[in-house]
Amino acid sequence: MIIRSNTKQAIDQYQEKCPFCLNVLNQPILTYIDCDKQPDLKYEAICGHLLHSRCPHCGSQIPLSQSLTYEDKLNHTILYFEPDDQKRSSLNKTLQKKISERKIRFKKTFYRILKRREDFYEKSRILDCSLDDRLIELMKIYIVQFFSIERNQNVSSIRFQLQKDRPVFLLDINEAKGIFGFSTEDYDLLKNAVKTLEQMDPALCSEHLLHVDSQWAVETFPKVQFLLMDPSKSSDLETDNLDELCISPDGYPYGA
Ligand SMILES: [Zn+2]
Repeated sequence: MIIRSNTKQAIDQYQEKCPFCLNVLNQPILTYIDCDKQPDLKYEAICGHLLHSRCPHCGSQIPLSQSLTYEDKLNHTILYFEPDDQKRSSLNKTLQKKISERKIRFKKTFYRILKRREDFYEKSRILDCSLDDRLIELMKIYIVQFFSIERNQNVSSIRFQLQKDRPVFLLDINEAKGIFGFSTEDYDLLKNAVKTLEQMDPALCSEHLLHVDSQWAVETFPKVQFLLMDPSKSSDLETDNLDELCISPDGYPYGA
């Protein structure tokens, strides 16, 4: 149960039982973060420590399941972490309506709705690097395909990470961990393809999408890949036909 406190706008009183010792936690928790003004909390998000609490009774680390709004004004982006399905669906509707009415489009603010805390942490890292999360998701697909096709290795998970403040991709490959370097050159190449696709098919590739995740990237990747293979063809293509034209990748991936 969350009880709204009258004293501080962005802090709610949180009453939940510790799953380990069953004592009641009665701690104030944040529901809004302005990461420019609260760099310590931004750092906790980047490190994946945010959205956890320590039980004052037994000391256990407890993952919190509250909603969190995370605003990065520098990068004109607001992340909504919303684990509750019903609230997430309603938030989705509200924001879609605003976007369609062009109320927020002109403010140049981008919104992302996130269900899983790991996705939230990853987005906060991408924002910290002032990178475009659409391009990062597409790069992840490229890397996964590279390992599958060129090396016959299965990547079971891939995450954007920071290693000594440098962007990298952290991979689980055949039950081992690996690091794949981030290439600015490849990122810029992909940026142009995405820009073209956005003009051709804004519903698929707009930077105002509310959900930019691996599912989106899997659907979008073949179309972007086609543009990368032959950018000169992009101007006279019909987006509806792209699916048929795209075949499995045989080119060299980013970072290869
Ligand atoms: Zn406890």
